[in-house]
Amino acid sequence: MPTDLIHEERLHTHDFVELENEFGAHNYSPLDVVIDHAEGCWVHDVDGKRYLDCLAAYSAVNQGHCHPKILKALVEQAGKVTLTSRAFRNDQLPLFYKELHELTGYDMALPMNTGAEAVETAVKTARKWGYEVKGIPHDQAEIIVCDNNFHGRTVTIVSFSTERQYREGFGPFTPGFRTIPFGDARALEDAITPNTCGFLVEPIQGEAGIIVPPAGFLKQAAEICRQNRVLLMADEIQSGLGRTGKLFAYMHEGIKPDVLIVGKALAGGFYPVSAILSSWEVLRVYKPGDHGSTFGGNPLGCAVARAAMRVLVEEKLVERSAELGAYFISLLKTLHSAEIKEVRGKGLWIGIELGGPARPYCEALKQEGVLCKETHDHVIRVAPPLVIQRKEIDWAFERIRRVLEKAPKHPHKH
Ligand SMILES: *Cc1c(COP(=O)(O)O)cnc(C)c1O
Repeated sequence: MPTDLIHEERLHTHDFVELENEFGAHNYSPLDVVIDHAEGCWVHDVDGKRYLDCLAAYSAVNQGHCHPKILKALVEQAGKVTLTSRAFRNDQLPLFYKELHELTGYDMALPMNTGAEAVETAVKTARKWGYEVKGIPHDQAEIIVCDNNFHGRTVTIVSFSTERQYREGFGPFTPGFRTIPFGDARALEDAITPNTCGFLVEPIQGEAGIIVPPAGFLKQAAEICRQNRVLLMADEIQSGLGRTGKLFAYMHEGIKPDVLIVGKALAGGFYPVSAILSSWEVLRVYKPGDHGSTFGGNPLGCAVARAAMRVLVEEKLVERSAELGAYFISLLKTLHSAEIKEVRGKGLWIGIELGGPARPYCEALKQEGVLCKETHDHVIRVAPPLVIQRKEIDWAFERIRRVLEKAPKHPHKH
């Protein structure tokens, strides 16, 4: 349809869905809700319907949609300077570094944009550290990863995915990765060789369906890595910044990864900002020219991330996540439905595992005004912005209860 015939204000959900299907690649299967504005944990669609967002853009909007303080930082910085490239310096990057250090306790950071880029950066860092510090022979470095991991979509990252669909048709793949079962410290120990430079792990697996490993796994893994001079690299792009009721999920086990990977909520959903955090001991392997990104560390992203971090602290979102998450899980555990196999999670990161496909329930929840998305077919992920209030949780729970307890058995059940 020629653009001059489009009267935007007269378009409805089905028109937008049609346009998207006609002109965009079909690499997603979104619920048919077309959002045009949002605030806090509520989103509104083009037909005037309001929904409670229980996905929070995969935890990128922990601070809530369009947070006014982050918005202000974005608009102000956008009127000053947005991009200098790292050919020159800017006044926001040093302050971003310092505040990130103060928030996390990590010595230093290397900024990127998307999560996948930060994971790639962690992989490069571990390899370079492996060669230059550990003394691994040229091109022999190995990194250990876990079954059912999710670390992003670049060729190298899907090279070590165990998800067939993520790899199918995208080879040849990057070598140098070994896989162990998630949560199995013994297997980690057995997989380590003198050429192992890193162990890359999500402290809680998100895309795999909110899988919490056995208690003590991360602690054992940290000890095994330490003994074998292997860098423990925690991907906290989704689990970090308050989602699990701690600032970072690794804190549930009282350890400290050698490399921490952050993204998503780091900029509150306004802008892609990611980073790896580590020590000078590790990051000193980089010299000028080794690695970089045109947009990484740009002043707009840094200003937004600084505001997003401030909101996290000022509004005590980590504490809220712990308290309200426990409350939400306790409510969900009271559900009576033959369809539910397990309710699990930490903080406001909750998985409801079903006996059959979760998608029809997500569709039904959408009708009720609650937006959730299935993950791995059988799990409904419940992960609202951390600014959600108790009464909004009650509101959502009532609707989840209605859908899960009253829905007729799914027709294509096993
Ligand atoms: C989302 C995610 C990524 C990838 O981040 P992008 O910004 O989509 O590239 C990597 N790891 C984990 C654990 C994630 O949840």
